[in-house]
Amino acid sequence: MTIAIYPGSFDPVTNGHLDIAGRAARLFDTVIMAVFDRPNKRLLFSTEERMDLLREATSAMPGVRIDAYSSLTVDYARSVGANVMVRGLRAVTDFEHEFQLAQVNHTLAPEIEFVTFMADQKYTFFSSSTVREIASLNGDVTWLVPLHVVVALKKAYGYDE
Ligand code: ADP
Repeated sequence: MTIAIYPGSFDPVTNGHLDIAGRAARLFDTVIMAVFDRPNKRLLFSTEERMDLLREATSAMPGVRIDAYSSLTVDYARSVGANVMVRGLRAVTDFEHEFQLAQVNHTLAPEIEFVTFMADQKYTFFSSSTVREIASLNGDVTWLVPLHVVVALKKAYGYDE
């Protein structure tokens, strides 16, 4: 039984994240999309909101579960019995950060394998922060995130009347 965690801020979840989770679910028995409770960045959505958006987005994805954590990622991975940690790689600019993260985590937890998926071409050019930036100016994000996330973004930025 291979349990993988896919940790991230998911503020909010995008089609790029969902593509990675779906592909990981084809390789591993269980993929836990784990919302990091307190990343070192300003958040738009609370942990509960980020989890709810993820739950709805993955409701038709067998093998994908949603959880949250606030500890060291490798400690969380161990606590759920995960032997794999999944991340996504969009471009060379992601590489250095992800490489460093994988090296540090591998040193802390050599029993966990770090697997990086190359983002699909369709999703390489955007992140949650791009989505927030467009949505904050009432731009169209229907092509970047699921519909219920569009609705949540409109509400968060006061464009929902
Ligand atoms: P973090 O704050 O941990 O970077 P994110 O929620 O921004 O969390 O991203 C989580 C993971 O998903 C990271 O490995 C990131 O590279 C990957 N990711 C983010 N956006 C995309 C995308 N559009 N396509 C593929 N992977 C992505």
